[in-house]
Amino acid sequence: QIPEFNKAASLIEKIEKEGYEAYFVGGGVRDTLLHLPISDVDIASSATPEEIKRFFPVTFDVGIQHGTVMVLHEKETYEITTFRTESKYEKFRRPEKVDYVRSLEEDLKRRDFTINAIALNRNGQLVDPFDGQIDIKNKLIRAVGNPSERFREDALRMMRAARFMSQLGFDIEEKTKEAVEYYHPLLSKIAVERIREEWTKLLIGRNRKGGVKFFIETRLFQMCPGFQNRSEDLVDLALFPHQFQTPLIAWTVLLYFLKIDEEEVSSFLRAWKLSNKEISNVRTALYALRVRMERFWDNHLLFATGIKIALEIEDIMAGFGVVNDINRLLALDKTLPIHSTHDIQINGNEVIHLLGFNRGGPYLGTILEDVKDRILSGSLPNNKKQIETFILKRRFIYLDEV
Ligand code: ATP
Ligand code: MG
Repeated sequence: QIPEFNKAASLIEKIEKEGYEAYFVGGGVRDTLLHLPISDVDIASSATPEEIKRFFPVTFDVGIQHGTVMVLHEKETYEITTFRTESKYEKFRRPEKVDYVRSLEEDLKRRDFTINAIALNRNGQLVDPFDGQIDIKNKLIRAVGNPSERFREDALRMMRAARFMSQLGFDIEEKTKEAVEYYHPLLSKIAVERIREEWTKLLIGRNRKGGVKFFIETRLFQMCPGFQNRSEDLVDLALFPHQFQTPLIAWTVLLYFLKIDEEEVSSFLRAWKLSNKEISNVRTALYALRVRMERFWDNHLLFATGIKIALEIEDIMAGFGVVNDINRLLALDKTLPIHSTHDIQINGNEVIHLLGFNRGGPYLGTILEDVKDRILSGSLPNNKKQIETFILKRRFIYLDEV
């Protein structure tokens, strides 16, 4: 019925022929039951990674320490995780080492929420010992087993609960919520990268409002970098009426509501362990957003931002009560004389030559910046001869600065 599962059914059959069990599990099963597109097909098996590696010619070690091996099957890759428990917990994080078990039920027991603890065999039969289907029907996030124990075992699960509330538009079961309220300080034991992954999914989820509300009410936010005592700003973010399509725009609007100064952007995002590339993109987008609140795009702002990020910003302006105009922005991009410095019809070496120097220096940046600005404002055509004439005419001004 589900194309992704049909393809993988023969993989499960192969494992069964070898004498082991294998099932579809996790988000793929959950999303299928919700009639949502599935992001990945996860498979759980009684065979150990070593055994799986013997059954399939092409495999990749992606997470042997967690009992996971990736296999190539009919041109697709699948992650197969060996049935396991999580017996030894250290410092409220997932254990470094796992203990394999041979029964599916034991494996389902260690999963976080009932909606994620449903298995499907290759004939389409469900194994659902914790009534995950009922919780799916009632749109409820409920911990498998005792919520307090489960959050003490792995505090990240509290963030995952918030994330699923936003992503799926679900509510949270009362006891599960109470446990998060009580154990929220344990989130400080979790690596920021892992928190960030869940927080980003929460931000772009369709019920951000519900997810952020839970995140504030349970005080999980107090455990996150830069959010201490910023609940009012987070409420503004929760109420922003437009679903974010990308992590970039989500983080940009977050920083906007937190009123992060331009100089603080880097340190704030570094604390969240974003990459330099991501930080630079958010910085660009935040600057553009702030200008766009005041006026429409012009050549200079569009050049500095780039059309891709500009479109993302324009797309959400209505959420701020600003009338947006995507077509006008696209038209402006079409008429931009240059889209990057590479489009300028003269390069650094040519400028050095033109002025009779034998090497560059700060003067070069000044000249190229000036040329770029004049091309963008339309006062200088992007034509090599005319750019040369312009530079030569102004050489005395430039050379004064040398
Ligand atoms: P997504 O659609 O975002 O992939 P998912 O539920 O598949 O959501 P994954 O992180 O891919 O999330 O994990 C796959 C499955 O592994 C989950 O559905 C759940 O059963 C289990 N799982 C993942 N993380 C945890 C955790 N921290 N504690 C317990 N079980 C977990
Ligand atoms: Mg998944």
